[in-house]
Amino acid sequence: MRVLVAEDDATSRLVLETTLRKRGYEVVSAEDGEMAWGYLSGEDHPRLALLDWMMPGLSGLEVCKKIRQRSDADERYVYIVFLTGKGDIKEVLAGLEAGADDYIKKPFNVDELELRLRAGKRIIELQDQLVEAKQLLRHQAEYDALTGILNRGALLKRVEVELARASRGEGCLGVAMMDLDHFKNVNDTHGHQAGDEVLREAVRRILGVVRPYDIFGRYGGEEFLLVIPTNAATTVPFERVRSAIAERQFAIDQIEIPVTLSIGVAWSDPNSKLEELLGRADAALYQAKENGRNRVEEAPPS
Ligand code: GH3
Ligand code: MG
Ligand code: MG
Ligand code: MG
Repeated sequence: MRVLVAEDDATSRLVLETTLRKRGYEVVSAEDGEMAWGYLSGEDHPRLALLDWMMPGLSGLEVCKKIRQRSDADERYVYIVFLTGKGDIKEVLAGLEAGADDYIKKPFNVDELELRLRAGKRIIELQDQLVEAKQLLRHQAEYDALTGILNRGALLKRVEVELARASRGEGCLGVAMMDLDHFKNVNDTHGHQAGDEVLREAVRRILGVVRPYDIFGRYGGEEFLLVIPTNAATTVPFERVRSAIAERQFAIDQIEIPVTLSIGVAWSDPNSKLEELLGRADAALYQAKENGRNRVEEAPPS
């Protein structure tokens, strides 16, 4: 664990550095507040800070305030311990008020200092676990567990944003509803687990042919939505997807399974609403199924 020691008095600084190093801490030191803030505002900043109260330039109190005012983008909490000189209660209160976690009076007892830093370490570890759990939840809320692509809710939100952008700009959106053909047969013949594997492989193949700025996600069971921002209303990109699925059989557990995909495409115009686009794409998909499956059909202009 790395500790920042900010102390303008050279002797005290040296004592702190040596003591902490002896006890296994990695120490970075600053001889004034500016330098301390430099370290703490850096990319891979220390998570524990021992700040002297009185320093030239920025005081410990000011450094503390700056840390706490920083944006939430940096989720790596800094645990702040003040070193106060005279143990003036007003100083202590102002420090805590500014967001310090703890304080210790000079001259300090080395064991006490270390125990207080250890408490800080525990808080930091807990905070990191919380951040990690939060990130995991955020991911689970947006991505489909089976295939790893966007789930329906997150998918539709992104399409709404893209649709608003397209209606302001030059291009349009190609909205494709895509559905695996006779997928129920795959489950019935090879089992549900093989069915899951087919869904994963289908997603891998589709990801291999879409562009980074296309929006692709799982709309439901064996249905996917692919939205392509473009200047040219051509079905070429969708044909590429169709053929990526149909061109080779899927090898699942040494068994070759033929899989195909039907696609219905609707093109947006500047007045398009999402519901209406999805409805038209769905109608085109129905046509693709009617016309023999493994094909791309376009919806007539609205
Ligand atoms: P069509 O060509 O008309 O689309 O026929 P289909 O059999 O694909 O369509 P249907 O709607 O009858 O069946 C869809 C099947 O997809 C039924 C459902 O059990 C299966 N399915 C949906 N989600 C999953 C999944 O996550 N895993 C597996 N293994 N199967 C799924
Ligand atoms: Mg000082
Ligand atoms: Mg379906
Ligand atoms: Mg189907």
